[in-house]
Amino acid sequence: MFGRLILIGKLITVILRKALFQLQWKLRRILHKHTYKPGESKNIVVIGASFAGYHAAHCLANSLPTGYRVVVIEKNSHFQLTWVLPRFSVVQGHENKAFIPYSPYINAPDGACLWVHDSVTAIQPKEGASRVQVSSGDWIDYEYLVIATGCTAELPSRVNWDSKEEGIIALRGQQRRFDRAEDIVVIGGGAAGVELATDLKSHYPEKNVTLIHSHPKLLGAGFGPKIHDAVAKEMERLGVDLVLGERPAIPDEFAGEIVLKDRTVHYDCLVKCIGQKPNTDLFRFLDSNSFTPSGHLRVQDTLQVQDAQHTNVYAAGDVIDEVIKNGRSAMEQGQAVAQNILRSIQGRAQVKYRQQWWEGLTKVTIGLVSEAFPIQSIANIGQGQSVVYMNDGQAEVTMTLRQKTELDSAAVWKHLGATPYDI
Ligand SMILES: Cc1cc2nc3c(=O)[nH]c(=O)nc-3n(C[C@H](O)[C@H](O)[C@H](O)COP(=O)(O)OP(=O)(O)OC[C@H]3O[C@@H](n4cnc5c(N)ncnc54)[C@H](O)[C@@H]3O)c2cc1C
Repeated sequence: MFGRLILIGKLITVILRKALFQLQWKLRRILHKHTYKPGESKNIVVIGASFAGYHAAHCLANSLPTGYRVVVIEKNSHFQLTWVLPRFSVVQGHENKAFIPYSPYINAPDGACLWVHDSVTAIQPKEGASRVQVSSGDWIDYEYLVIATGCTAELPSRVNWDSKEEGIIALRGQQRRFDRAEDIVVIGGGAAGVELATDLKSHYPEKNVTLIHSHPKLLGAGFGPKIHDAVAKEMERLGVDLVLGERPAIPDEFAGEIVLKDRTVHYDCLVKCIGQKPNTDLFRFLDSNSFTPSGHLRVQDTLQVQDAQHTNVYAAGDVIDEVIKNGRSAMEQGQAVAQNILRSIQGRAQVKYRQQWWEGLTKVTIGLVSEAFPIQSIANIGQGQSVVYMNDGQAEVTMTLRQKTELDSAAVWKHLGATPYDI
């Protein structure tokens, strides 16, 4: 009990510190707007504009001195909000909310940011003449490079399509698949698998939903037993068939059977919420020690890549080898990278980034309220509930929250400077 109170106290301190930082940042930006002069500039190239890269670009564009600018290269037409994807793969009518228009978040002085909607296809890291190539064939020089290319996965973990239109079609395709199915098997009990399985079973109580997870506890590294218990209890209430600690052979067929230790599960719809792969193929110019066996990038505590030959290359977000992988942590790293690039330009010492416990604060959705699964505290059918989880290494706290069907979509749109839900 005492440990939990201390944890909540520590969280309040973090929130106050962050609010103060935001205020100081606003003032610094106003000053920067009045002092930055556009003109011929050296480039800081950021590859990827999701949580890590978009925030790094925002910080850089609002703090770089005259003579430098940030060039953001992003292949997607819109910011793709990952954490609503399991929900919008099941529930119809919200798909457009997962695609947030780019640009207002940068909000930088003229000339401080160039946006390139394209895909980086090659990198030439030559001393004094480093450059990247985009799929149009153009080359762009860089003085510093920020790798924020994240991970690749299928729906419901990533959209896997570049345009909003294609993304919406893909989400609707998933909804139709689930609507037609009777026996759905979800593989993988990380955030995506848990959220999908609970949404499916609460939205379609008559269908059989099985979740198979290879570990004995749900969710992954960085989570303690409390969140497993809260999520598993809710799954039991909903009637999700939860299979833990098994790694069966997964067939490729659209319909078939999965053989478990003590029984066989039939399916006519299979969803794999496993196998997120870091996007590191472009960076094989770094020495082989720069990569973990899983393909993630090893970084120094300054967030420069491990390879000491490339001190002007930084990395942030899901692409790097950090325990906590979420949007909050990716943004913290993006901010630390921006700060260190600025310090390098100014000839100042680099600062160290160390992942903090509060970066792991997590919200996992655990289904929707339906007539079959009413919850007293939630009046409206269609609303949902989530478990909030935090852990400072000494104590763990879980709380159950009610949430709208669209989750935090509107808040994220506003945070990124966009009006919900303009095109
Ligand atoms: C189902 C689910 C729920 C989640 N819920 C939460 C949550 O509630 N809270 C939270 O904080 N986190 C949550 N996360 C985690 C969060 O989504 C990730 O940690 C976050 O997306 C990582 O951001 P990133 O910037 O590192 O990379 P990514 O989001 O993977 O983005 C990488 C970007 O790089 C671009 N890119 C890649 N290669 C190229 C190239 N060659 N050229 C140009 N562009 C390129 C991509 O288009 C993409 O925009 C959730 C994740 C999932 C899957």
